[in-house]
Amino acid sequence: MSRTTERVRHELRFRIAKVVSNERLTPLMARITLSDPDFATFRSDAYDDHVKLFFAKPGETLERPVPGPDGLAFPGGIRPEGRDYTPRSFDIQTGEVVIDFVLHGDGPAASWAATAKPGDTLGVGGPRGSFVVRGAYDWYLLAGDETALPAIGRRIEELPAGADVIAIIEIADASEKQSFATAANLDLRWVVRSEGGKLVEAVRETALPQGTGYAFVAGEASASAAIREHLLGAGVNPDYLKVANYWRRGEADHDDGHAH
Ligand SMILES: Cc1cc2nc3c(=O)[nH]c(=O)nc-3n(C[C@H](O)[C@H](O)[C@H](O)COP(=O)(O)OP(=O)(O)OC[C@H]3O[C@@H](n4cnc5c(N)ncnc54)[C@H](O)[C@@H]3O)c2cc1C
Repeated sequence: MSRTTERVRHELRFRIAKVVSNERLTPLMARITLSDPDFATFRSDAYDDHVKLFFAKPGETLERPVPGPDGLAFPGGIRPEGRDYTPRSFDIQTGEVVIDFVLHGDGPAASWAATAKPGDTLGVGGPRGSFVVRGAYDWYLLAGDETALPAIGRRIEELPAGADVIAIIEIADASEKQSFATAANLDLRWVVRSEGGKLVEAVRETALPQGTGYAFVAGEASASAAIREHLLGAGVNPDYLKVANYWRRGEADHDDGHAH
C-alpha cells in the first residue's frame, strides 16, 4: 500500500456520557471508562484523534449543545470548560470509550479525573475528524510526554507484526511506566524526569534507523517544537512527520489551532 495521509471528517456528535469506572493505572494516570448508548456510532480512525470533554461545575448539570457554524453552541451561550483528550480505546458493541487522564494536579480536567466516580457525567464532543496514516514505513518513531502516552500506546498496539517502532516517552517517575500488548518490534525507552531525563535530549541522542520512517511527536509545546526542529535537521521527510502541542506550560486550555 502506498504511503499516504488523509484527513477524514466525521459528523460532529455530542454525547453526555456516564463514568463506569475510574482506575488508577499508575499513581499519576487515571483510566476512566465512559459509557453511552450513542457510542454505538462512535468513530475514531486514528491513534491521535481527540474528543473534546466538557466538565460541568460541581452541582450543575450539562446542557446539550447543538452543532453550529463555529462548533458546538451551548444553550444560553454558557460554554462549560472543555479540554482535549485521546480515545485510548473504544468498543461500539458495549458503548464504551476509555480515556487516560494525566493527574497533573491543576485544571478542571485533571481535578475532575482525580475524583470522578461511577455515575458522574461529562460531555464528549467529536472526534470531528481523523488524520489517517496509510502504508508501511521502514520504521516509526513515537515521542512524547505522558499526555501523548494514550496516543502512543494506542499506536504501539495497533501497529502490525513486523513493524519497527521506537517509542520515547517522558514520565514523572519510574512508577509511571506502562506495558503494551503489541505484535510490532518495539524498542521502548522511558525518560524519567525524577532521574534527570529530558525528552528532547533523549530524542536527540537517538540514532534514526535507515530507510523511510514516520515520526509522531506530541506533548508540551516547547519540547514538541525543539524535537520538530531536530528531526527535520536529521533528515525526516516533513510529509512523514506529525508534531502536536498537547499543552503549554503556564497556559490553561492551550489551543494549538487544531479543529474541535
Ligand atoms: C489532541 C490532544 C490530545 C490530548 N490527549 C490527552 C490525553 O489523552 N490525556 C491527557 O492527560 N492529556 C491529553 N491532552 C492534554 C490535555 O488536553 C491538557 O493537559 C489540558 O491542559 C488538561 O486540562 P486541565 O483542565 O487539567 O488543565 P488546564 O486548565 O488546561 O491547565 C492548568 C495548568 O496546568 C498546566 N498543565 C496542563 N496539562 C499539564 C500536564 N500534563 N502536566 C503539567 N502541567 C499541565 C497548564 O500549563 C496550566 O498552567 C491532549 C491534548 C491535545 C491537544
